[in-house]
Amino acid sequence: MPSPSSSLPRVAWIGLGIMGLPMASNLLKAGYEVTGHTLEQAGLDRLAAVGGTPAASVAAAVRGADVVVTMLPASPEVEAVAHGEHGVLAHAAPGTLFVDMSSVTPRTSVELAEAAARKGIRVLDAPVSGGEAGAVEGVLSIMAGGERADFERALPLFRALGTTVVLCGPHGAGQTVKAANQLIVAANIQACAEAVIFLEKSGVDLEAALDVLGGGLAGSAVLSRKRHNFLSRHYPPGFRIDLHHKDMGIVTDAARAVGAAVPVGALVASLVAAARAQGDGGLDHSALLRGVERLSGIERAHGAEQPAGAQQPPASGAGRARR
Ligand code: NAD
Repeated sequence: MPSPSSSLPRVAWIGLGIMGLPMASNLLKAGYEVTGHTLEQAGLDRLAAVGGTPAASVAAAVRGADVVVTMLPASPEVEAVAHGEHGVLAHAAPGTLFVDMSSVTPRTSVELAEAAARKGIRVLDAPVSGGEAGAVEGVLSIMAGGERADFERALPLFRALGTTVVLCGPHGAGQTVKAANQLIVAANIQACAEAVIFLEKSGVDLEAALDVLGGGLAGSAVLSRKRHNFLSRHYPPGFRIDLHHKDMGIVTDAARAVGAAVPVGALVASLVAAARAQGDGGLDHSALLRGVERLSGIERAHGAEQPAGAQQPPASGAGRARR
């Protein structure tokens, strides 16, 4: 049922982190009523500050909602929030549309859709690309999987969050496309990082080089959006290396399952894992540059660019995410 004060559906939003909070804020700006839940009190406070309603639990957030959106780190968190006596499936009304916008394994999306169908709840997987800036600016790419009628029901909401919105196929197809996206982005960051160190060691003016590279075939969203990080050697997340490690696990597993060779993907997955093992998991993925520095014999104070607490991998490790 739509909200009594507007014709727009009432939204429950679970997961108000780097991506979830600005996305929920954009729904509020577009006139949606948003009730949200997340683990950190600061996230609940920020939702209230932009006009949303904080909820103390998943169950309280989804009560009375027409659409439930999750924006959580990985498969284990999505499964924990969806299932069980306190989960979305136990508390959302039949007919609710459950849109998981987290990046998870395609299998998680398929299994979630099957479990939800038994309760009369509709599901879409709808992971995104565009990073924190894309979330803040409302210009994300949204790659959906599921049934067309459900996609069309979610389309007005998606239009408040992104500019490129595509139904890619059945349940899990959005996640498969997102996995391909993460392969392309990681390989692109690694190539840019290698070029930066090559240029610097060669004595070329780095800013001038990046200007001209950005205008030719080497130009990319990665090069323009991460340029400042490369130049400043400052890597506030952004998109954490921990999360990209999870995504490289998803793409290499999914590719092996269908017999697709991804040799560059496998190599970059190993470099992302090495960055994490060196304590860089909490940094933005542009910090792959630090790995190239280490391999090239460039010494920097270990952890100099780390945000507080970034040395410890989060509980949502990639091992558990790789289901
Ligand atoms: P994040 O760690 O900043 O936020 C995740 C949020 O989930 C946290 O606020 C946490 O409190 C919440 N959460 C975890 N478990 C919960 C639970 N049981 N109940 C309620 N809330 C819970 O992560 P993020 O960077 O916002 O990424 C979210 C998803 O989007 C990930 O799957 C990531 O791969 C994907 N993604 C991120 C970016 C990016 O640039 N950060 C870009 C595209 C896609």
